[in-house]
Amino acid sequence: MYKLPELEYRYDALGVHISKNIMELHHSKHHQTYVDKLNLALSGHAELTKNTLDELLVGLSDLPAEIQAAVRNHGGGHYNHSLFWKFMTPRGDGEPSGELSSALEQRYGSFQAFVDEFEAKALGVFGSGWVWLQPDLSIVTTPNQDTPIMNGMNSPILGLDVWEHAYYLDYTYKRADYVKAWWNVVDWQFVGKLHQDSK
Ligand code: MN
Repeated sequence: MYKLPELEYRYDALGVHISKNIMELHHSKHHQTYVDKLNLALSGHAELTKNTLDELLVGLSDLPAEIQAAVRNHGGGHYNHSLFWKFMTPRGDGEPSGELSSALEQRYGSFQAFVDEFEAKALGVFGSGWVWLQPDLSIVTTPNQDTPIMNGMNSPILGLDVWEHAYYLDYTYKRADYVKAWWNVVDWQFVGKLHQDSK
């Protein structure tokens, strides 16, 4: 049985950037529903309980046809959100440091140029989806709750949820304002560690 992971900060900890109201609904309702529906999909398939979530998502096409869509949507949702909470912190320091900082500068010319491209891709997602920074520092998007590991890519080192449920209560239709505010809560120490670990 999959379980909703606990947040490492309080619902109100991201303050003016992402409200307590959004955090509480997003974690305790939306994410909980992905977990519940993933468990429901797997409930008739005891043979799959030995697989990790990564294995299920990487091997979607090998799963029984009747649960492929549910594992894709709800397993992907559980995977993506479990990462997303960790990409954020009340102690956001605004910019990466050390090796990741130099690597982003080398790849994009400057940290701001990286931010600009990430934001452009986030705004370019039509409907619901995600934008990701991959270990090779490419920026990719996925629709719905698809996740890069379903597409043969590595697990991302940073990602932003651009579903309306992630921002509408605070920002209404202004996705661009949400994306700009989100940089204030990015946990660059964690992102830097994932980047190091990916080598
Ligand atoms: Mn979400």
